[in-house]
Amino acid sequence: MKRFLRVTGWSLLAVVVASSVIVGVRFGIAQAAVDRFDRTPPTRLESIGTVEHLTILPLFEKATSSTDLAMGHGVGYLVQTDAGTILVDVGFNPENLDPSPIEQNMAALGVTLDTIDTIFITHHHPDHTGGVTWWQQGTFSLGTTQVDLADKQILTPIALTYPGAKPEAAAAPRVLAPGIVALGAIPFVDVFPLSLVRPQMIEQVLAVNVADVGVILISGCGHPGLERMVETAEQVLGQPVAGIVGGLHYGEGVTPAVNAGIALLEEHDAALVALSPHDTGAAGLKAFATAFGAAYHPVAVGEPIVVR
Ligand SMILES: [Zn+2]
Ligand SMILES: [Zn+2]
Repeated sequence: MKRFLRVTGWSLLAVVVASSVIVGVRFGIAQAAVDRFDRTPPTRLESIGTVEHLTILPLFEKATSSTDLAMGHGVGYLVQTDAGTILVDVGFNPENLDPSPIEQNMAALGVTLDTIDTIFITHHHPDHTGGVTWWQQGTFSLGTTQVDLADKQILTPIALTYPGAKPEAAAAPRVLAPGIVALGAIPFVDVFPLSLVRPQMIEQVLAVNVADVGVILISGCGHPGLERMVETAEQVLGQPVAGIVGGLHYGEGVTPAVNAGIALLEEHDAALVALSPHDTGAAGLKAFATAFGAAYHPVAVGEPIVVR
């Protein structure tokens, strides 16, 4: 019995040590990808063009402008411009509702799929891809079934599938339409516990160059960090960032990261700051609201953010 316990103990220890080494190596590889990204300037795009109009209508978020609309943890933004309409992320449906919360909100707000040209998935997390089931299957969905998206341009952060459509994985930055740019693959080390499955992840950010306003970034969770996203945008576009809408992943409290983010956007004299409440807590949002005054805009389902 004693011998059995001794052998079992040593085997357990061996398993723990081996798995820690494997996890450590995988994290190391993920971090190395981020370091490599930081050392390599992304491709500069020439003549990106401008849009005359930009409105961002949140279709799914952790806040709502009316009790008649659904809300939850995640992101789905309708980006409306004169050069095309883009759905950035498709929300979350943890209770498997049919229609899903984002589908309910689209119906309530009169948004139909045929008005959407492009679906832009920022990153492969369940609160941006329609839920855990789709996420596990390496795909995404607006609802409990995968509606026909054959006529849409679909841009995903990593290789994802979708029946009857051809999603394109982000790589180098590219102009999607005059004034609308996909900034390309930005790596990050995934958040625990998702990181145990795949520590190396990619997030992509949309940039819209608005006439007389400048470049507005639209982010999902903002895992790569505001500084890296702004720097990438400025290297790709060759002009300063003028504002940001979406997730910045500050979590709870007014942390040093929150203060650094405020300082960076103040240096940029930001014309628009609209932070997602799904990954930044009330105290952080309040700090940004206080710092930016009239330039700050809350992000809530059904409340359009009209840039121009
Ligand atoms: Zn998120
Ligand atoms: Zn995320």
